[in-house]
Amino acid sequence: MTSAAFLSRAGQKVLLIEKNKECGGLVSSFTRDGFHFDAGVRALEDAGIIFPMLKDLGINLEVIKSPVSLGIENEILHIENEDSLLKYRELLIKFFPESEGEIDEVLRIIRKVMKYMDVLYGIENPVFKDLKRDRAFLFNKLLPWLPKFIFTVGKINRMNMPVEEYLKTIVTNPALRDIIAQHFFKNTPAFFALSYFSLYLDYFYPRGGVCNLPEALKSKIIEYGGEIRTETKIIEVIVEKFLVRDQENITYKYDNLIWAADLKTLYKTAKTEGLSADIKSGFESVKDNMLKNRGGDSVFSLFAEVDEPPESFRKIANGHFFYTPSSLGLGETHREELTYLLSNFETIKKEDIVTWLDKFTRLNTYEISIPGLKDPELVPPGKTGIIISFLAEYDLFNKIQKAGWLDEFIAETENRVLRVLSDSVYPMLKDKVIACFSFTPLSIETRVGSSEGAITGWSFQKHMPVINKIQFADRSVVTPLPSIYQAGQWVYSPAGVPMSILTGKLAADRVLKRVTKVNKKNALK
Ligand SMILES: Cc1cc2nc3c(=O)[nH]c(=O)nc-3n(C[C@H](O)[C@H](O)[C@H](O)COP(=O)(O)OP(=O)(O)OC[C@H]3O[C@@H](n4cnc5c(N)ncnc54)[C@H](O)[C@@H]3O)c2cc1C
Repeated sequence: MTSAAFLSRAGQKVLLIEKNKECGGLVSSFTRDGFHFDAGVRALEDAGIIFPMLKDLGINLEVIKSPVSLGIENEILHIENEDSLLKYRELLIKFFPESEGEIDEVLRIIRKVMKYMDVLYGIENPVFKDLKRDRAFLFNKLLPWLPKFIFTVGKINRMNMPVEEYLKTIVTNPALRDIIAQHFFKNTPAFFALSYFSLYLDYFYPRGGVCNLPEALKSKIIEYGGEIRTETKIIEVIVEKFLVRDQENITYKYDNLIWAADLKTLYKTAKTEGLSADIKSGFESVKDNMLKNRGGDSVFSLFAEVDEPPESFRKIANGHFFYTPSSLGLGETHREELTYLLSNFETIKKEDIVTWLDKFTRLNTYEISIPGLKDPELVPPGKTGIIISFLAEYDLFNKIQKAGWLDEFIAETENRVLRVLSDSVYPMLKDKVIACFSFTPLSIETRVGSSEGAITGWSFQKHMPVINKIQFADRSVVTPLPSIYQAGQWVYSPAGVPMSILTGKLAADRVLKRVTKVNKKNALK
């Protein structure tokens, strides 16, 4: 959508093709029984990208701050500013008094990372600035910032190891390590994970729901003359002929294509007949690399309609809440124990999986979002909609579906999650839930066509199939295929909404540069 908005603004003939009824992908919302729910991301982080993009496009999006709370068992902390780190320290020490020195060391590193983040996001992202015209920005902000940026990038790249490994070098108690890191994706680079304290302070919420961000972009695309075609799924890219084909066998001709969806799908569906041997071999080698990698962790989300006013929830925590009901930590539950279950799935009894689920739901960390606490208009009077989610393994749901008891497993999961939370932080969930339903990793795969139901692109590996260094982000949008660019969460790691937007703009810039070059060449003929 970012690419389409900027290209149509530049006067290009743009067609945005989307397989679903609505645009926005993982930035989407829906309403059920008068309750508003966000289906994907729960709130947004500017990261020096979203607001500059909106400003550049002249979009006035009404937003509300989305404060975060963190909780362990019956201790809850509301993050208000950088000083909240001291409260976080106290919180951790309450549960792990013998680890005070190690906690101080972790906090020292988090503070250091926060300083790096201040540099990284210290200025509006220059990609959204017109550097030829905005000389004040260029000379007063960008140039003085660059040396600090380069210095910081060096420091960040040195913190690329998985957060679990990184914490092992500082913290001896595995439970403490889990409590700090278990709600991050497996093997999240240490810098990215430890930067979350800064990101918690950055969260905002579009009034009316996160869907209002794609809605605003959609209006801009149409205003600038772009065309949007929904319920159209691309099933083939015929590279030599500059054509894409949809599920109805309709083809669309392009001069330039920006693929902003799952990359395994692009590499599987692209037909390279007729291309030169060089291009084909470049394509095959990238394809190989893509197909042997996996999407990162997925998520299980429970949506509940509760007959209790938002105020009762507000007394407990903010509308965006990371809550761990047990200070014991997940340990090997989501690693070795889960791997064992998956590798021996055919011989393991259903009861064993449910026993594992019991433990997993008791020890996990939940991301809880209450839209009505961010915008009171989003719930029926006196009632509350609550979204409870946790990171979930796609393979488990896939195997259970194939074994024919997915609905049962979902119901078992819902019951346990509601029980764990009503026995701990939200007693009203015991008997005030009017209705509840869930999305699994399989729903995400089906809905947005995301490999392994991944919600932020690739799983973290030592060798990533895409660019993972910020200084090379510009190259992330290039593919080995002529006139085809790529954007979105699959083209850079680590990704999320801001990076998807940034790569969308970078891809649009590449296309415009190419179009200008071709036009100049034609003018000379
Ligand atoms: C529960 C949850 C929490 C999250 N929390 C955060 C967070 O705190 N911070 C953060 O930054 N990010 C977060 N994310 C991740 C973030 O939402 C995504 O990384 C981002 O929205 C990805 O955007 P995208 O446009 O690259 O991809 P997508 O949103 O996947 O969009 C791809 C689009 O392409 C369409 N499509 C796919 N295949 C085809 C095809 N063949 N033909 C036509 N159309 C097709 C899809 O329908 C979809 O609309 C979260 C996600 C979830 C689900």
